[in-house]
Order: sequence, then structure tokens, then C-alpha cells
Amino acid sequence: MTTAAVATIAPRSLLDLTFAELEREFIAAKLSPLHARALWRALHHGLKRDFTDATDFLPPLRRWLAEQVGEGSRFFIEAPVEGADIASSDGLTRKFLLRLADGQTIETVVMGFRGRYTACLSTQAGCAMGCVFCATGQMGFVRHLRPGEIVAQVRHAQLALRAAGGDGLRNLVLMGMGEPLHNYDAVMTALEIISDRRGLNIGPSRITISTVGVVPGILRLAAEQRPYHLAVSLHGATEEERSALVPASQRWPLAELMAACRTYFAQTGRRIFFEWTLIAHTNDSPAQAGRLATLLKGLDAHVNLIPLNPTGGFAGTATQTGAAKTFQMTLQAAGIPNTIRQRRGIDVAAGCGQLRAEKSRAERLVAAK
Ligand code: SAH
Ligand code: SF4
Repeated sequence: MTTAAVATIAPRSLLDLTFAELEREFIAAKLSPLHARALWRALHHGLKRDFTDATDFLPPLRRWLAEQVGEGSRFFIEAPVEGADIASSDGLTRKFLLRLADGQTIETVVMGFRGRYTACLSTQAGCAMGCVFCATGQMGFVRHLRPGEIVAQVRHAQLALRAAGGDGLRNLVLMGMGEPLHNYDAVMTALEIISDRRGLNIGPSRITISTVGVVPGILRLAAEQRPYHLAVSLHGATEEERSALVPASQRWPLAELMAACRTYFAQTGRRIFFEWTLIAHTNDSPAQAGRLATLLKGLDAHVNLIPLNPTGGFAGTATQTGAAKTFQMTLQAAGIPNTIRQRRGIDVAAGCGQLRAEKSRAERLVAAK
């Protein structure tokens, strides 16, 4: 008995494609690249969700869509389902929980007001880096996100802002769930799509990649001259203190990380942002601020100080305002520019991974009843 092996190719998300890839599809189908342009605009500028009534498309594009997109076809339209949309009581933060096609949930946060909004994007479901104070780290690694799943978060944020009668998504930070440089290729493809002028048009100078300190990724960003801002999460200025909070420091030790930052600066001339989560009696003493200043000497650095957002799996508490100010003054006196940033909307669990963690805790409680 013979069984014919049927080769099935998993359908691709249209949002995974760069403009050049989409154009190649139309050229291969012997259609004008102008149709690629029209489709790109609909996807990334008009933010169209439904193509069944696309009467504004020319017939060849309508035929291509009918053949190529949908059940059993080569492509599908990425459409994460909104599992929650929660606004903070001060109205400055909105947090979305998005359910992906395989049931995984990720978080996207929109912060700001009056047409100056920043979206905080996730790059992975969970995270492998295990930072002890981070809700995403506490849940472990689930999987990488595809480019389309990152792009879809920007679409979702833009559509929500438009529905609220505005627009104005200006900045993006890759500071949601996951480690962007552990998912390098997908993140770079997503950023190429997001910054394309014919579509979402959020320029590279308005995009910040935040990393726990994946040294090969930092060096690759520099070698490839990627035009985005870089933020490095430090949290400790000695190997011992940092490793206790950031286990990834054992893989890429602090000395190696700082050498990579210096190489990055030498090759790109770009200022680097350093993030420091302030945890009471752990990394918030004036002596520790002094060591941080010494570590950053000679670099064009800006430090963002972020009081800890408490999470279920970590006993630490946030540094009080007085101690945070003293830490700040110590850096200032040593000539290190810095800002204290509140993690806005603590009442919507705005720390990365916290909403997903809370939701699954609530679901477990319901299931246990
Ligand atoms: N993986 C990347 C980006 C996502 S985390 C990184 O670690 O940089 C974004 C920032 O939020 C990091 O600086 C991280 O240390 C910080 N962060 C995570 N959990 C936090 C919490 N509970 N309170 C305060 N900051 C937190
Ligand atoms: Fe991962 Fe960043 Fe959280 Fe660390 S802080 S566990 S790297 S998401």
C-alpha cells in the first residue's frame, strides 16, 4: 500500500512580509508591483482588517487576495484577539492583553496623552533570562514572536488610539514581555516593517530596543549600523550584585557587557540608555550610585531610574522617594545624566508580564473552585 505524502506548507502571515518581499510576490505572480503598494498601504497605513469588501482594490489585487489569503491558502491576516483592555485610574496608561493564534497571550501597553503616545511592545511570549524581579522572567520562556505578531501590536495600538478619536503613536519601546536581542532576526524584520514610510511610518529615531545585555546582539546592532536607540538594563554595577538580580550576567558578564557598550559607542557614536530598577536596600545606596557612575565614565550615557513594580514572585520593594532622590543626586554630582521614571499605572499591573501573570492566577483560582 502506498500513501501519497502531501506536502503542506504552513501559511504565512501577510504581516510577516517586508515591503520588498510583498513586491516579489506580485512580480512572481506577473502582476504590477503597484498592487503590492496598494495592499501595503491597506495593511500598514489604512490598518484594514477585513479584505472581503475591498472594493477600493483593483480586480487583479482582489483576485490575488481571493486566491492567496484565507483558509487553505498561502497567507493569512494576523488578527490577535483582545483579551483585556484596561485603563489606569490616572488615564495615562492603557494595557492590552492580546491572544495569539495558538492561544498564547502577550501584553502591549500604550502610555501618554494628547497625541504623544508611546507603545511598549512584547517580543516573546515569556522570557528565558529569568531576572528575579520581573513577572515575565518568573513565567519562563514560551516562544519567540514572529515579525507579524510584533507588527500587529503596533496596529492594535494605533487602531485603539484612532477609535478613541485621536492618533499620534509617536514612540515605540521594546520593553514589554521578552528579550528583543534573543529574537534578533524577527525583531529587526518587524522594525523594518514598522518604520517603512509607506506604512506605519514610525521612524528609527523614535524606536528604542531594550536589552538585558545580550552581548552578541549588541555587537551585531553596531556592526549592522542599525539606526535604533539602545537601552541596556543594568541594575547592578558589580558582577556579584548584578548576577543576583540578572542571571544572564553569568552568561555575559558585566565586564564583557561594558566592553560591548564601548564598542557599540565607538562604532555608532550613539548615546546608550541604561536602565536601573531601584529596589529598596538592594541596589539603591549612594555607594552603589557611585560605582554606577564609575562604570559609565567616558560613555555617552543616560540612566533611567525605575522604582520597582512589585511582583508576586519577588519579595523586594520599591525604593522610597527620598532614597531615589539621593541616588539621583549622587549620579548627578558625578556628571551622569539621569531621569527617575515612574512605571505608570501600577493599578493596571504595568510592569511587563504582570497582567498575563495576574490573569492566569485568576483563571487558576476560578478553575480550582
Ligand atoms: N528584556 C528587555 C526588555 C523588557 S524588560 C530588558 O530586560 O531590558 C524592560 C525593562 O523593565 C527592563 O529594564 C527591566 O529590568 C524592567 N523591569 C522588569 N520588571 C520590572 C519590575 N517589576 N519593576 C520595574 N522594572 C522592571
Ligand atoms: Fe526578560 Fe527583560 Fe524580564 Fe529580564 S527584565 S526577565 S530580560 S523581560
